Amino acid sequence: MVELKNIRVVYNKSHTNEKQALDGLDLTIKKGEFVTIIGPNGAGKTTLLKILTGEVYPEEGEYILNNKNIRHTKPYKLFRNVGIVYQEPDRGVFPDLTIEENLILGSKKGNRLFSFGKYKGLELLKSLNMGLEDRLKTKVKELSGGQKQALSMILAAITYPDLLLLDEHTAALDPKNVDKVMDLTLKINNEMGITIIMVTHNMKIVEKYSKRIVEIKEGKVTKDFLYERPLSQIGSEKIKATL
Ligand code: ATP
Repeated sequence: MVELKNIRVVYNKSHTNEKQALDGLDLTIKKGEFVTIIGPNGAGKTTLLKILTGEVYPEEGEYILNNKNIRHTKPYKLFRNVGIVYQEPDRGVFPDLTIEENLILGSKKGNRLFSFGKYKGLELLKSLNMGLEDRLKTKVKELSGGQKQALSMILAAITYPDLLLLDEHTAALDPKNVDKVMDLTLKINNEMGITIIMVTHNMKIVEKYSKRIVEIKEGKVTKDFLYERPLSQIGSEKIKATL
């Protein structure tokens, strides 16, 4: 479903501070996969996400999404196909609007499925067990960081993107909220079938939740493997209890 072939990105080309961020990166991802990207600082992880959203054009290489070569597609045209949730909880929500208004706007972005999107959003909200479904008229700026980030994930999911990118989306959360947001992440992947690419530095998250792990170093894929673990160890305590 996603194919990146020989992607090369050079920042500040021909200047003294020229930097090759991706150096012939190849990566293929199938529909419905949950892929974790790891690697040291400066390895090129964020640049990879920027290629996928269309924010950065590769110097060389091919980016194919759903059999369409979109190397030169502008980001606004990819807007419906590729969703992204960032580290900062405020980036993915409308803080001055209520939870309900956020859900309505979020589902309108994917307007093919407008009413279904809002219904799905409410269902996901209930599944969080954060009590947010009883606070639909509350302004989002009054929520905690973890609650806002969970809502960001829901808003991204109800547009039904082909690809959902997570750029260290749990990095600013406390451990309890990390588990809630990661459970929601698995639910969006498993139950909604949305393909997810998650960048993280948090090895506890990798241990607990990752399936396929791709390591990037110096702009290339250096490892790509499935992380095998007993089924009982996947997910948080809540998920274990329901297995
Ligand atoms: P981190 O884990 O620290 O976020 P990363 O793996 O996401 O790092 P990138 O942000 O993709 O790495 O950066 C890859 C390289 O490109 C780094 O050396 C970085 O300094 C450089 N770089 C990133 N963005 C730019 C830019 N806009 N201009 C110049 N160099 C850049």
